[in-house]
Amino acid sequence: MTQANRWQVGALYPSGGRGGVAWKQPGGVGTLVYPQQVTGVDYFSTKPFSELSGMMSSPCGHYMNAPLVQREYDYTTNQSVALLCCQLCGYVVWTISPFEAALNTVQLPYLVV
Ligand SMILES: [Zn+2]
Repeated sequence: MTQANRWQVGALYPSGGRGGVAWKQPGGVGTLVYPQQVTGVDYFSTKPFSELSGMMSSPCGHYMNAPLVQREYDYTTNQSVALLCCQLCGYVVWTISPFEAALNTVQLPYLVV
């Protein structure tokens, strides 16, 4: 008996997203997630751009300094998997399998698990 994965790259994890926010992904899997962040880049302001965004941008349209790492299981490969998600909404940006490979701080120093 095979079980379906509870996650998908480009979708919110967990289903519905994080933090009790009513996230919407009207374009379907792999598209922008609403509400978007207010970045409001104002080139005439003295506020630096970095205060309005983050080091990484995710395909959901949000910014973050590091992805959120969550442990899951991939039933198609029968291996553990690390889901690298948007910190805000939970959009699964990419995966690393097995999960332990995500703990390699030499190869992936930007991951905070
Ligand atoms: Zn997001």
